[in-house]
Amino acid sequence: MSSWAIDQVGTIDEELAAILKNELSRQRTTLQLIASENFTSPAVMAATASVLTNKYAEGYPSKRYYGGNRIVDEAEDLARQRVCALFGAEHANVQPHSGASANLAAYMALVNPGDTIMAMSLDQGGHLTHGSPVSITGKIYRFVPYGVTPYSKDGSGERIDLEQLRDLAKKENPKLIVAGTTAYTRIIDPLPFRQIADEVGAKLLFDVAHPAGLIAGGVHPNPVGIADVVTFTTHKTLRGPRGGAILTGAELAKAVDSAVFPGLQGGPLEHVIAAKAVAFFEALQPSFKEYAERAVLNAKALAAALSELGFRLVSGGTENHQVLLDLRTFDAELTGKAAQDSLDRAGITCNRNQIPNDPRPPFVTSGLRLGTPAETTAGMGQEEMAVIASLIAKVLRRCGDEETEKEVLHEVHELCAQFDPYRSLSV
Ligand SMILES: *Cc1c(COP(=O)(O)O)cnc(C)c1O
Repeated sequence: MSSWAIDQVGTIDEELAAILKNELSRQRTTLQLIASENFTSPAVMAATASVLTNKYAEGYPSKRYYGGNRIVDEAEDLARQRVCALFGAEHANVQPHSGASANLAAYMALVNPGDTIMAMSLDQGGHLTHGSPVSITGKIYRFVPYGVTPYSKDGSGERIDLEQLRDLAKKENPKLIVAGTTAYTRIIDPLPFRQIADEVGAKLLFDVAHPAGLIAGGVHPNPVGIADVVTFTTHKTLRGPRGGAILTGAELAKAVDSAVFPGLQGGPLEHVIAAKAVAFFEALQPSFKEYAERAVLNAKALAAALSELGFRLVSGGTENHQVLLDLRTFDAELTGKAAQDSLDRAGITCNRNQIPNDPRPPFVTSGLRLGTPAETTAGMGQEEMAVIASLIAKVLRRCGDEETEKEVLHEVHELCAQFDPYRSLSV
């Protein structure tokens, strides 16, 4: 939100304007290390705050149900053209309200209720919408989970277990195989997934919600043209507004479009689609490639520094924008929940996460997930990652100690003052 937007809200609703101001201040003055978050540009936020929010546009460009969509059509077409250019896709649907909606639409386009789908299990790094029993996806379809290989001392373990996937696929005959993860630090090559899907006659969906920006920036392999359907969120490494998108070849275009509307959604959020168009424009610039490279280098630097300080890195390291810590080597008693809460009070925002074969339940966990997309956008580099690692260790050595939390909070404020993502917005 721009300060202009806050001021506008303030002219009629001071109560909410104060809340918006406080959140802007929180984002600028504390460390944002949630791997699925980013700082969108003022241009992206401004498009989200535009008059396009007023328009009903059920349907697709030039095939709308209501009148008055000539101009909105141009915005949605621009978003579709840009995202197709960005990923080399034949067809794009930019209407999904979120990554979860995009996945549900992809399932609806590719399989029928009751069909078997294989996807990474949640506790090994998959997403809720990959068939968790608490998600609608797990109730509509019959999901068979696959996971990662066991931990190995030399750091070669905890990788997606393609042999297990192949064996299970041969036994279970899935109609669809889902690739993609939410807590996993390695490059995922789409080709072996395609091979296994072909061996068992399954379709392949690649959910690149997390690495979409890394793929757009050319630092991770692009599954477009290899997977039948590619889904992603626009707000993680891609640095756009909160939302989802789907890419397909020409032959599945109609099935995907019908699944999104009228299958699952009503009127699209055209103001958000306009903001997606801005984000795709930004991602098409040469500077975005550099951003994607820096996000990965920063994660590697953060991981290396934390490893030096006694934390075990799940899978032994990282090749993307995430770091997944096993806290047990640092302190056997320390839980992900206690660590997250103490770090939060010290101004370091991150999330607890289950690690593969975690002995603790999902609400407690033994792991912590950190990500570099937001602070890389703010301009931080590898030096700052080393500082952040030492601040994290400082808090967690005395987890829950108020004095330490206060001290670190002060240091965090000083660091963040040098890397304000919204320097141009005066508040
Ligand atoms: C974040 C994520 C989603 C869901 O995105 P929402 O916008 O939160 O619905 C789906 N799949 C994966 C792999 C994700 O990481």
